[in-house]
Amino acid sequence: MKVFEELERRRDWSEDERQLIQSVERICRDVIAPSAAAYDEAEAYPQASMDAINQLGLNAIFVQEAYGGAPMRYRVYLKVVQLISAACASTGIIYATTFHGLKPLIDFGTEDQKQRLLPRIADGAIGALAITEPNAGSDATGMTTSFRPSGDHIVIDGGKIFISNGDVADEILLFGKWSAIDDARASITALILEKGTPGFSIGRTEKKMGHRAAPTVELKFEGARVPKANLIGAPGGGLKLLFQCLNKSRPSIAAHALGIATAAFGDMVAYMNERRLSGRRVIDFQGNQFSLADMATDLAMCELWLDHVAALVESGATDIGVEASMVKMRSTDLAMRIATEAVQMHGGYGYIREFRVERLMRDAKLTQIWEGTYQVHRQLIGRSFADK
Ligand SMILES: Cc1cc2nc3c(=O)[nH]c(=O)nc-3n(C[C@H](O)[C@H](O)[C@H](O)COP(=O)(O)OP(=O)(O)OC[C@H]3O[C@@H](n4cnc5c(N)ncnc54)[C@H](O)[C@@H]3O)c2cc1C
Repeated sequence: MKVFEELERRRDWSEDERQLIQSVERICRDVIAPSAAAYDEAEAYPQASMDAINQLGLNAIFVQEAYGGAPMRYRVYLKVVQLISAACASTGIIYATTFHGLKPLIDFGTEDQKQRLLPRIADGAIGALAITEPNAGSDATGMTTSFRPSGDHIVIDGGKIFISNGDVADEILLFGKWSAIDDARASITALILEKGTPGFSIGRTEKKMGHRAAPTVELKFEGARVPKANLIGAPGGGLKLLFQCLNKSRPSIAAHALGIATAAFGDMVAYMNERRLSGRRVIDFQGNQFSLADMATDLAMCELWLDHVAALVESGATDIGVEASMVKMRSTDLAMRIATEAVQMHGGYGYIREFRVERLMRDAKLTQIWEGTYQVHRQLIGRSFADK
C-alpha cells in the first residue's frame, strides 16, 4: 500500500485540514466502520454514525461562515466523503446527499434564504435532492410534478421516487415544472421544501440490494404549499441550476465510490497475503498479480483525476461537465470492478456475509446507476468531441 500512502502524504493539507481528516479517520475507525454491518443487516438508519459526524460538525465544512459554517476547501469535503464511505457506504451517502441537495442553496440562494435555511444545516440537519419520478430518471425533462403559483405561495402536486434521505431530510431541493411555462425544459424549476409542509407526505420505502442503511423513499405532494420565498433562482431556471450543481455532486459520487473501492482493495490484498493454497499465498499466483496491478494502477489514476477535478472546482471553473463525468464514470466502474474482484479473490468466503467484501459489492453497484448511469456519462463524454 506504500504507493497510496505516498500519494496521500504528498497532498498539501493545511494543519487545520489535516487535523479534521485525522478526526474523521478516528470516528470511522471507532464508530462508523464497526457498526456498518449491523446497520446494513437491520436496514436501520445509522444514527450513531450520523451523531458522530455531527459531533465533528462535518456539515459546517461546506457552509459559509456567515451562516454558521466553518468552510474548508472542496477537496477536504471529498476526502471526508471518501473516508466515511470506506467505513460505511450508507453513512457516506447520507452525509454526501445533504451536500448534493443543499449546494444550490449555498451557491445560488438569496440572502434571506441563506439566513433562514443554512444555519440548521451547518448544525447537522439533513438535506435531500428530489428529481427522479417514475417516468423521469435519466431524462429529467420527463418530470410531471407541477409548481402552480398562488399568491405568495407555490402549490405542488405530483410525486418523486427513489429519494435518498427523503424521510429524514429537514430541507429538500425539489424540482418540478412551472405550470405557466409550456416547455419540457424551460419550465423546470427548483425550490426548497421544508419538513412538515402540509400536503407533503412520505410514500413507500424501498428495499434495496445495497446501501441498506440509507433510506430511499417516495415523496407525495397533494396541494403542498411552499412560500414563493423558497424558490431557488427564477421559474424555469431549474435545468441550468441542475447542470451547475452536478459538476460538484458527481465528483462527490466519485469520492463515495473510491471509498468503497479503497475498502475492497484493502480487504482483498490482506486476504490474498494471508490465504494459502498448496503452500502458496493467493497473491503469489501471477494471474492474480496481473489483476491486482491493473486495479491498483486504475485506483491511483482515479485518485489523481479526482484531485484534478477538485482543483478545477476550487478555481471557480464552471465548464467542467466532461471532467466531472469522467471521474464519476471511471471511479464508479472501478468500484464495481474492484469489489467484484475482491469477492472473487476471497473464493467462497467472499460470498458469505461475514466478510465485508460481500456488502461492498452490493454497495458498489448503485454508484454506476445514480447521478447519471454509466451509459449516460459515456454519451456525455463521447458527444463532447463531436464538432458542433
Ligand atoms: C437507491 C437509489 C437512490 C437514489 N437516490 C436518488 C435521489 O436522492 N434523488 C433523485 O432524484 N434520484 C435518485 N435516484 C434515482 C436515480 O438517479 C435514477 O434511478 C437514475 O438516474 C436512472 O434513472 P431510471 O431509474 O429512471 O432509469 P432509466 O432512465 O429508465 O434507464 C434505464 C436504462 O436505460 C439506460 N439509458 C438511459 N439513457 C440512455 C442513453 N442515452 N444511452 C444508453 N442508455 C441509456 C440507462 O443507463 C439504464 O440502463 C436513486 C436511485 C436509487 C436506485
